[in-house]
Amino acid sequence: MLEIHSRHAYANEVDIFMRDLESHYPFQKEFLQAVFGVVKWIWPVVRNNADYQKRGILNDLVEFDAVDIFKVKWYDSLGKLVINKGYRVKHNRALGTYKGGLRFHPSVNLGILKFLAFEQTFKNSLTGQPMGGAKGGSDFDPKGKTDDEIIRFCQAFMAKLSTFIGPDLDVPAGDKGVDQWTINKLFSAYTDIVGGQYFPGVITGKSLELGGVELRPEATGYGLIMFTDAMLKTVSESFRGKEVAVSGSGNVSQFAVELANSYGAKVITMSDSKGFIYDKEGISKEKLEFVMRSKANDRNWRISNYVKRFDEAEYFEGEKPWKNIECDVALPCATENEIDEEDARALVKNGVLAVAEGSNMSSTEEAVDYFLNNDILFGPGKAANAGGVSVSHLEMEQNKMIGRWERQVVYEKLEKIMLNIHATCVKYGEERDGIINYVKGANIGGFVRVADAMVAKGL
Ligand code: NDP
Repeated sequence: MLEIHSRHAYANEVDIFMRDLESHYPFQKEFLQAVFGVVKWIWPVVRNNADYQKRGILNDLVEFDAVDIFKVKWYDSLGKLVINKGYRVKHNRALGTYKGGLRFHPSVNLGILKFLAFEQTFKNSLTGQPMGGAKGGSDFDPKGKTDDEIIRFCQAFMAKLSTFIGPDLDVPAGDKGVDQWTINKLFSAYTDIVGGQYFPGVITGKSLELGGVELRPEATGYGLIMFTDAMLKTVSESFRGKEVAVSGSGNVSQFAVELANSYGAKVITMSDSKGFIYDKEGISKEKLEFVMRSKANDRNWRISNYVKRFDEAEYFEGEKPWKNIECDVALPCATENEIDEEDARALVKNGVLAVAEGSNMSSTEEAVDYFLNNDILFGPGKAANAGGVSVSHLEMEQNKMIGRWERQVVYEKLEKIMLNIHATCVKYGEERDGIINYVKGANIGGFVRVADAMVAKGL
């Protein structure tokens, strides 16, 4: 069971609430962790608001509007029938159309998607745009599959998913294992299945020629750097000259490295699920381009190949970049719970100044507490990585208006949204001596907007 700090004024009540939820969903540990991570911060706000109490807001929010689970049948290249599980989990649409990514990864299960959809509702709320929260995906693993196999899977998946989505109902996007190429295939399958009218706004993350918006691939990584830069500024610091450790080497990581470089930082690590590379001279623009090109050409490419090309770098098999490396800023951009308490201790001991989550729920509860207790600037994913979904919403707007924004316009809109999210975190998260608790700020700021909409709607 998740432990709540005994100094929390409502520790007992939160504990009873969580035990009850756990008795209903005992095996959904990521979902329980995500709920606990929100509830422990918003409890006092709910407790002191008669409307929220009357509306039973918390009991309502921990249940989902709809959970769709379906079978996906497709043939592999040997003609063998393969069966995967497909999911679309709709959490809450108090603020607007359901919106959230699709994840293709063998680890996908209902508990993980419920955690992601739950987080998505508050993240979408923080952007200030009118979006509800959802998430979906499959336990299908694109690694080791041919392009034809992925296309066949996408067609079979969309044949089922198309019943549950629509441009004014629920608009998916990419996530882990679902890049722009895959989104294009899913969009094409949707168009074939529904026939008749053309609905570009049914899915976001499309390439430009299919109605995509400028800067969508960059948005999560860029937004992460913009948000982290705003955090650094509150303590009169900046990225200039800072050593930055990044995990992952996928979409979020690549563009986080790109913008961190142009903000004057030196990025010293990238990783994948097999290990990490440490480049003491920094992952320059040219080196990053090598990683991007290699990954784009071969989806099975491993980060270990980096050291074959750049011999000033070292590779650490089976390790994460958080221990034994000194860095000023840590940006986890790979997966959930990739920083545990031991990693957090090592980062703090080695002098980290700021940690911001590119991946969702990158840090365990214990790691988050450790950062907060040591006054580390800590940006939780629902705030720090909201750039992706906010530009996805711009894509929806663009598809509705049948027009196109210039790249610079999207960049400015993204920057404005990230700075607004930062301002919301400061508004709700400012604590003693001006220290900002971004976890509290993001959770309360994200919650209040959703809760007020639910109260306004009534039952
Ligand atoms: P990608 O699939 O493009 O890249 C994921 C990267 O993380 C890969 O390098 C992958 O390595 C590594 N990775 C995956 N699982 C693990 C693991 N269990 N342990 C260590 N490394 C792992 O995904 P994205 O970059 O799109 O997403 C990364 C994270 O960011 C996810 O948590 C996602 O939910 C979150 N996010 C993404 C957004 C987006 O716009 N794409 C928006 C907001 C959040 P390998 O190749 O070996 O699997």
